[in-house]
Amino acid sequence: MAKDPVIVVGGGLAGLSCARYLHDSGLEILLLEAADGLGGRVRTDVMDGFLLDRGFQVLQLAYPDAKRILDYEKLALHSFVPGALIRTQRGWASMIDPWRRPGKCWQTLFNEVGSFSDRLRLGRLRWSLRGELTSLTSSDKTTVDFLREECGFSQDFIERFLRPWISGMFFDEALETSAAFFQFIFKMLASGDAALPTDGMQAIPKQIAAGLPEANIWLNSEVTRVDTHHVTTQSGDTIEAAAVVLAVDGRQAERLSGIALGNVEFGATTCFYYAASHAPPIGKTLALNGQGTGPISNVCVPSNVAPNYAPAGFSLICVSIRGSQRRRENLEREVESQLRNWFGDATDSWRLLRRYDIPHAVPRQKPGTFPSALPSELSNGLFICGDYRDSASIQGALESGRKAAEAVLQRIG
Ligand SMILES: Cc1cc2nc3c(=O)[nH]c(=O)nc-3n(C[C@H](O)[C@H](O)[C@H](O)COP(=O)(O)OP(=O)(O)OC[C@H]3O[C@@H](n4cnc5c(N)ncnc54)[C@H](O)[C@@H]3O)c2cc1C
Repeated sequence: MAKDPVIVVGGGLAGLSCARYLHDSGLEILLLEAADGLGGRVRTDVMDGFLLDRGFQVLQLAYPDAKRILDYEKLALHSFVPGALIRTQRGWASMIDPWRRPGKCWQTLFNEVGSFSDRLRLGRLRWSLRGELTSLTSSDKTTVDFLREECGFSQDFIERFLRPWISGMFFDEALETSAAFFQFIFKMLASGDAALPTDGMQAIPKQIAAGLPEANIWLNSEVTRVDTHHVTTQSGDTIEAAAVVLAVDGRQAERLSGIALGNVEFGATTCFYYAASHAPPIGKTLALNGQGTGPISNVCVPSNVAPNYAPAGFSLICVSIRGSQRRRENLEREVESQLRNWFGDATDSWRLLRRYDIPHAVPRQKPGTFPSALPSELSNGLFICGDYRDSASIQGALESGRKAAEAVLQRIG
């Protein structure tokens, strides 16, 4: 390289976003990634023709920073039906977004979960979030307190619909996540679809990386030491840098920088993928556990949404587990027994493809931490980004990467 590059440590969405903005602004970059591929927590394995995302996740198309950096058309996105099916003691109840799917309004308004007033409260919440996001910042509390005290939802509606739905997004069954963050995500879900790229979620980091020079991305390059102008890798090489950006998760960033950063606790999940010759009858919707018992948090059929997720003649079923249940000794057996209870004998022929245990899925977004006002520069020449510095999401990772790039450009650009 002609001059010292800006070294970005970590090739997840935050590091890739940072590297892309720096590269597009004309700076020399070098991206060092410890793993054998890019994407961090957004990776996809291919197994027997099935696309297995490492844990169920979706792209919310309304995310401002995703719209900014991604080419949605090239990702060939496929949308879920907005809303959910809820498994109750009596069967399935449909909770489809009536603003975006008015045809399904009737089933949603008059099902057994919650009351008619709860539907009106949901509408009021949606209406109250139509303005600028800055209007959310005045005060913050836990999501569960916000739902009870400010929105006034009934206990039944919270327990059978809101808790399973929200806890599946935040991996936080107690709903202690920041209410301001919940409102942001709710607004995103109300404003645009949740979608899967044709080639799996890892197509997102791959698309960002395609705008970077391949030679300046080093995989299998774990960084063991950093200071403001040097980076040392596990193989013992020390590389000089114009500036260093730490785009690793919070625990790694604390270790490498030697600075306590806080907010580095994670929500956990486990995910099972099954192959079946016939999909369970849940269409393109997320099926939620509204019973409050059993290990399952939610089930979906990615191949119903994006057909490429399964080879011809097969369906791919994705089962996510409640964080509190994931350590159970007989988890697999209990999951299969609950699936049988929900979908009948047909599940006996489902084939388990793979199980993913993800102890560090998303950082806990505590009340008072959204939107983030954390600086991108840790010390003179050492910069930092990652979802735990912004919001625990794809949006947060992309945004914090962009902000770190802006800070680098301001300092040395
Ligand atoms: C199961 C699951 C479901 C999710 N669902 C959603 C969803 O539906 N919607 C949503 O918006 N978000 C979702 N998320 C969250 C989203 O995926 C993350 O917020 C985002 O990907 C974090 O990106 P990041 O770049 O900040 O961190 P990471 O992806 O963790 O990237 C950090 C990178 O740094 C690398 N690294 C670490 N240490 C070193 C080192 N010493 N040297 C070099 N490299 C190093 C790692 O290998 C990794 O590639 C989900 C996450 C999971 C796990």
